[in-house]
Amino acid sequence: MIIGIDLGTTHSAIAVQGQATLTPGFDGTYLPCDVTAIPTPYGERTVPSVLWVDPDDATKVLVGIDAVQKAEDGVSPIMFSKRSIGSDELLAIHGHRLTATQVATHILAHLKQIAEQALGEPVYRAVITHPAYFTPAQVEQTRQAAVDAGFDMSLPEQMLMEPAAAALAYLHGDARDPLTVLTYDLGGGTFDVTILERRQGVTSLKAFEGDHLLGGYNFDRRLVEWIVRKAEAGGRKVAHDPDNPQDRGLWARLMLLAENVKLRLSEQHTAQVPVPVRVQNLLVDTQGRPFQLNERITRAEFTALIADHLETTVECCRRAIAKAGITAADLDLILMVGGSTYGPWVGEALQAAFDGVPVESFEQDLSVAAGAAIRAGALPRTPPAGKGIRVMLDVPTKWSLESIDIVGSVAADDGQRLDEALRGRLRVLLTTPDRGTMPAQMLAGDGGFRFAEVELDLDEPTEFRLVIADDQGLERFSTRFQVAYGEDVGGGAQIYRSLPRQLSVKTAEGLVPLAQEGAQLPAQVDITLRRLHADASLSVPIYMEEIDVGAVRVNDLPTDSGEGGTVTLDLTVTEEGQIKGSAKVATRGGEVIATQRVRITFPPMVIPSLNELREKYDELEAQRAQDAATAQDRVRRLALTGAVRNLGAQIATLFEELQPDRQEIHARLREFERSVHPPADDMSPTRAVFVERAESCRASIAKLDNHPSARHFSGQLDQILRDGEAAYADRNRRRWAQVNHNLEALIQRLPKESGGPAPELPVTPLLKDMFRHDVDRQRELLDGERDRHAQHPDYDGVFASRYDALDGALLRMEKDIDEVSDDLPPPQGLARLQLATRGLDQMPRRIRDVVSDVGSAVKGRGGP
Ligand code: ADP
Ligand code: MG
Repeated sequence: MIIGIDLGTTHSAIAVQGQATLTPGFDGTYLPCDVTAIPTPYGERTVPSVLWVDPDDATKVLVGIDAVQKAEDGVSPIMFSKRSIGSDELLAIHGHRLTATQVATHILAHLKQIAEQALGEPVYRAVITHPAYFTPAQVEQTRQAAVDAGFDMSLPEQMLMEPAAAALAYLHGDARDPLTVLTYDLGGGTFDVTILERRQGVTSLKAFEGDHLLGGYNFDRRLVEWIVRKAEAGGRKVAHDPDNPQDRGLWARLMLLAENVKLRLSEQHTAQVPVPVRVQNLLVDTQGRPFQLNERITRAEFTALIADHLETTVECCRRAIAKAGITAADLDLILMVGGSTYGPWVGEALQAAFDGVPVESFEQDLSVAAGAAIRAGALPRTPPAGKGIRVMLDVPTKWSLESIDIVGSVAADDGQRLDEALRGRLRVLLTTPDRGTMPAQMLAGDGGFRFAEVELDLDEPTEFRLVIADDQGLERFSTRFQVAYGEDVGGGAQIYRSLPRQLSVKTAEGLVPLAQEGAQLPAQVDITLRRLHADASLSVPIYMEEIDVGAVRVNDLPTDSGEGGTVTLDLTVTEEGQIKGSAKVATRGGEVIATQRVRITFPPMVIPSLNELREKYDELEAQRAQDAATAQDRVRRLALTGAVRNLGAQIATLFEELQPDRQEIHARLREFERSVHPPADDMSPTRAVFVERAESCRASIAKLDNHPSARHFSGQLDQILRDGEAAYADRNRRRWAQVNHNLEALIQRLPKESGGPAPELPVTPLLKDMFRHDVDRQRELLDGERDRHAQHPDYDGVFASRYDALDGALLRMEKDIDEVSDDLPPPQGLARLQLATRGLDQMPRRIRDVVSDVGSAVKGRGGP
């Protein structure tokens, strides 16, 4: 059984696809997206992501509501640990110190146990969600936690972005096409915005935004600060030492109290009804005298306390909309996800900001887990192992075309490649009731097989039987499965993956993007570095936006090609957002002398102590004040006394909190530092380029004369210029990149100079030609290699079938391109064509794989 898990900062949830029959006592929630959410034995829909560890025995832990109970008893359990994943922070309880990954392991193990209890069978795999902004290292640590908790996590598809999961769950029940949705996911500690579009059945994630340190947790902290202000109104000062575990325990209880007040406010029907806030024996003054507080707060007052946070979320939505190249009016729906959107203040803020766009919610606390369960249901099925072999089938349960490729692979029991001799003896047989048994297939070098274009029964699910037999006719393995013909609306395989944050490597020339934000994955780049030294190793930093997150390392470089030679990194960002690759070492003359593996490392993020953070802040603030007084550039001076100063002031208030949040301060300080010490003009593109592009755009608009859209374009350009100035003044690289992107998009949209307005995209028949051309190029490459190898002794037996498989894939793409209707409007045409040629990007690599296998076969027999 495979389950879906939403591993949340405050709450986690589990679900399985379909209508599951649960062990008596477990009252599951069956959701309209055909998923059953699994409750805890106590009947809660979600599990608090909270951990308590026994003072005397670190192996005794409590997770969930039992751990929360401990907080009410005055101990401070570990909460919000997900915020620390990927950092070096150790979370302390009773003198035990755990990494966030260890905490996640305990929580996941607990969820696994609940699922097994509820389902009455072992759960060996899970699809686990993570926030869109997670770095590759954070995703990897989450996966590692799952492995440590006893899950088999060997398939890359098992890690899924939260917004994609929520979208999968929602889209299941909304058949509209075209459809443009903004998902607004505000949880306990994080905020994610995603814009997704469905066009002609193809769903893609178009834009990402968010703030990974904003959520209900920040709202609760505001309420705690409000309580402290009320307490101190009488002149007594609250005593609190952030480093004292006792005080931290009290603070945890204060946070729980604040959250409770928030939940009660959230239930009030009007904004004016006050809710009592009673704080007894949680705070003492500097003389040790306790505070007894008896206050009241209304929803309107609370909303005012968090108004700037709500405004930040609205701003994020606006930016996401701009990035997607649309306007708010293009949205069919704003979809609210995450526990914090239960608070009426959220929906109200969204309605006010995006007048006329429907704001809806869909199972706020369960939709992410539900999406994970849908993905889990679509994973390749791994039936129980056969005799000495393991079979993987990559076949969907539903398929919208009339014929399907039945694809799979056979590996050894331990998941490794099959032994050559055994592989040669195995045959794959596929049988359907109507068409009988198809010609037996042999396995390709990698153990793969494919029955191409098998027709489906259109009236009822087609029943398949797959048998793996050996050359004696002895059955090694068999399984049955069904595929139903029909539209699988927004089904698992159909969400395009794209990259939420730009990934780059830093070379001598500056940052070179591996893939731009929003790029469709997988994405591949070659980066050639000139060697300045004859060192035997080389290390290039990896950046996620402007933050240094890791490094690409190549070891064992031949030193004799040293100076003047080159190293070409061939790097791919996989569909799961991981970075993989190899390095080619060439001499100064260009001769390739070695191909090396690259190692990608992601060291933990280091979060400084409060004192270090304070020092850093003081230093930056002093610098800011000084520069504000002396800056020559007026724009820069205005920024330093305006936006930058405000940012500094916000950080100052974060230090004032009873229990300052180091992570948040650290993140904001980095932002502050970039504004105070803007990196010497490394804004890309440079300001001069921006201004020049904008001027040429202005000139093109002027040529439109009285074209009806000229005014509209001109207004857009003005906005872009304003945004550009602001982004440049703040040295906000992210905004800058986006503004430049918007400028390019505007230039693309301008009607072409001669003749009437041209469409944004070439017409569909032209698009088809462009795609055909791309396929042709791969075919040429393939044919060239095939000709070279036709003389090879193993050609007929081994390589011919692998070349045939690639050839078949190209043929299918050509056919699919032909089938795209010429009449489709270009955006739909493009979406269809992208779908038809999925995997084309991978073709060079697949061809290379065959070529290198031929190469090693040649070597193996000592040359042809
Ligand atoms: P995460 O995904 O980060 O684990 P959740 O989606 O579970 O978070 O949301 C948890 C947050 O939702 C908490 O801050 C909690 O206080 C808040 N929350 C839950 N119910 C309500 C409610 N009725 N009104 C306002 N906030 C709520
Ligand atoms: Mg969540």
